[in-house]
Amino acid sequence: MAVQSLCLNLKIPFIMGGTFAASSSVDSFSGNGKPCFLCVTDGIKKEIIEKLMPEKIKGYENIDFIPKDNNPVGQSNVFLCSTCSNFMTSMFINHVFKDPSIEAPKRYLWEDTFVDSFRVLFYVNSFESVTFPAEINPNCPFCKSFEEEKEEQEAKEEKGEKEGNEEKGEKEGNEEKGEKEAKEEKEERM
Ligand SMILES: [Zn+2]
Repeated sequence: MAVQSLCLNLKIPFIMGGTFAASSSVDSFSGNGKPCFLCVTDGIKKEIIEKLMPEKIKGYENIDFIPKDNNPVGQSNVFLCSTCSNFMTSMFINHVFKDPSIEAPKRYLWEDTFVDSFRVLFYVNSFESVTFPAEINPNCPFCKSFEEEKEEQEAKEEKGEKEGNEEKGEKEGNEEKGEKEAKEEKEERM
């Protein structure tokens, strides 16, 4: 969850994979949230979520405060694990090269919203794979904070542009003034 938070902070995709027995799963979450990994995860303590918020995540020197996961033993095998890593790598490459099938047009419809976050399940015994969209949680704290931050950023940029224009205008004015002074000086000397 800490990695997901950092990815949202940096606005980069979050790709995660794992194996269990004869199946593997790969998740791909867009860098814009809605949904994110927290949207599809239950049972994380509120105080941990609070500490891991995207706006705080870069401020930590270590994340020892995260409790250890009580994962079951995967009972998987090396073939499945390496296949899973290959899936993850290829998804990452698709993002790096901005593969149009991963980015827009968005492929998956969740209720009435298109999402570009999805989960792929792969079953090694039958060589079948299924892909489905990740669900959006409208109350997700990570996605909410990302939205708020984005809005703030946009407002700041808009303001910055306006100020920039004003500054430019002032500078131009000063230049004109400078020219005039120089001209006067020249005239005086003559
Ligand atoms: Zn979310």
